[in-house]
Amino acid sequence: MRKYVIMGVQGSGKGTQAKMLRQDLDLAHISVGDIFRWHVRQHTKIGAQVKRAMAAGELVGDDLVEEVVRRRLGIHDWNYGFIIDGFPRNGRQAEFFMESYDIDAVIHLELPDDEVRRRVLSRRLCPSCGMDYNLIADRPEVEGRCDICGHGLITRADDTPEALEARLTDYHAKTRPVLELFRRKEVVHDVDGRPPVDEVQSAIRKTLGLSGYRADD
Ligand code: AMP
Repeated sequence: MRKYVIMGVQGSGKGTQAKMLRQDLDLAHISVGDIFRWHVRQHTKIGAQVKRAMAAGELVGDDLVEEVVRRRLGIHDWNYGFIIDGFPRNGRQAEFFMESYDIDAVIHLELPDDEVRRRVLSRRLCPSCGMDYNLIADRPEVEGRCDICGHGLITRADDTPEALEARLTDYHAKTRPVLELFRRKEVVHDVDGRPPVDEVQSAIRKTLGLSGYRADD
């Protein structure tokens, strides 16, 4: 059983790297942001509560976040473990998490703010199947269309310059201290998020002592 957390500023490749690890290790990939986006799309009560904060790039309240995480992990579909992405994002969330679960490793993807801005503002998403694109490094074959399902691509409501600056400020102020907390437990693995996706994945596996990554797996 493996219990991993993946941390890094928005656009650092957390979701992409987490999905690659999940596929190979049969982990449950738990993205709090994806869960909230699902609620917004489905117009649930939770969706109505989080929509405004998300669009402004602000953090959702801790009580609601904790409830969503507790419920998700309560499903117990993670026989081989989980990788959680986008959580914890502040000291209180980290304490709640560490009280309930032992963490084997925290993967910390490092990326300078300028590179974050360049990546995030060119990010596109398929609202139908969830596939991510990037107009710089990972363009869809047909402009504006998903390669997998053909649906029209959108820009995430929170990928505007204003919302991005709010998230960067929040990240540095609130999420960095969480890393320090985990560092004291000696579970943090720092990984350079700048190289191509496959190289980052290989570096993650190396530092976690897992078998190597082959791009055609
Ligand atoms: P993400 O996809 O991880 O960038 O999350 C998108 C948005 O969901 C964030 O900007 C927040 O508004 C909200 N969110 C996701 N995870 C958390 C969290 N752990 N704590 C508070 N808000 C969160």
